[in-house]
Amino acid sequence: MTKEIYLTGDRPTGKLHIGHYVGSLKNRVVMQNSGDYDPFVMIADTQAFTDNARDPKKIRDSLTEVALDYLAVGLDPKKTTIFVQSQIKGLFELTSYYMNLVTVARLQRNPTVKAEIQQKSFGESIPAGFFTYPVSQAADITIFRAKKVPVGDDQEPMIEQTRELVRSFNNAYHTDILVEPEGVFPEKGLGRIPGIDGDAKMSKSLGNAIYLSDDADTVAAKVKQMYTDPKHVAVDDPGHVEGNVVFTYLDIFDPDTKQVADLKAQYTHGGLGDMKLKKYLIEVLESELKPIRERRIAFAQDIPAILQMLKDGSDHANEIAEATMKEIRQAIGVNYFAGLK
Ligand code: ATP
Ligand code: MG
Repeated sequence: MTKEIYLTGDRPTGKLHIGHYVGSLKNRVVMQNSGDYDPFVMIADTQAFTDNARDPKKIRDSLTEVALDYLAVGLDPKKTTIFVQSQIKGLFELTSYYMNLVTVARLQRNPTVKAEIQQKSFGESIPAGFFTYPVSQAADITIFRAKKVPVGDDQEPMIEQTRELVRSFNNAYHTDILVEPEGVFPEKGLGRIPGIDGDAKMSKSLGNAIYLSDDADTVAAKVKQMYTDPKHVAVDDPGHVEGNVVFTYLDIFDPDTKQVADLKAQYTHGGLGDMKLKKYLIEVLESELKPIRERRIAFAQDIPAILQMLKDGSDHANEIAEATMKEIRQAIGVNYFAGLK
């Protein structure tokens, strides 16, 4: 039986953070180890260029950092094809064809892109590549005929747009070679982890993240800066749990739910200081992050081996993509020279 393909990825715009970990990486490792899937994980450097075109060094440096994060959390190149987007030439070709099957008006309606344009303060200078990145993302998913796409909540509109493009393509070229993918979203509340500043989304580009590679002192310092309840000044003041990032993280990371409930009750009543609460969160985070950090340091000893892994993964991914592209070219009718030498 052929296994179902899943595809997902991350932009090499920095190191991966604990939002990626609970929102996406953890799930990928579980799916990988279930043996039910043929997993493809892509480092989306081409997409990273859409808003970092003038900073190729950042993208290049982040490539190995993201690969190290993958290995540290348990992605295994023997089970998962880990590859680099820009090395898959068919993706550029397929993106070009898709570009004609989507309207500018439709692209303007994508709520995630809309929010990101605001956030990144592009003003009138939105790079065309950024504006159209959901189209290239549709190519990423469909060239591998992925049925499942495990991602965070911000990616839902991209999956919807991909499904539409698949229908448009199959319709335009009277074929059924492309499959409509489905998003696999994290459990409620884990699809969009807030930043340490209380911003709605922890993000590499917003400077509000705790990274999987942060050392213990850095994690502690970041927790100490964390947004709590600005009105909770004296220890005995009653505090608010809602919107308090420390509690959001405890809900996510502390397996001892009874303990968290007790702390919430005490905080709401008054008598639990922010510092004491934060020290507790530091311990909880450390127990999850320490083994990841140690594995990451071990893998980082051999960077050439990391690059070799990415090359091997990209070679394999290219073979799969090229097989799909042959069918795509035939379906569109641009296989003019088929059979000629
Ligand atoms: P950038 O700011 O460069 O866009 P990012 O932090 O948003 O970086 P991406 O590489 O765009 O990270 O996203 C990779 C994956 O991680 C996606 O599936 C996305 O939904 C998920 N993800 C990103 N941020 C979070 C978060 N704060 N909580 C949960 N999942 C997240
Ligand atoms: Mg993003």
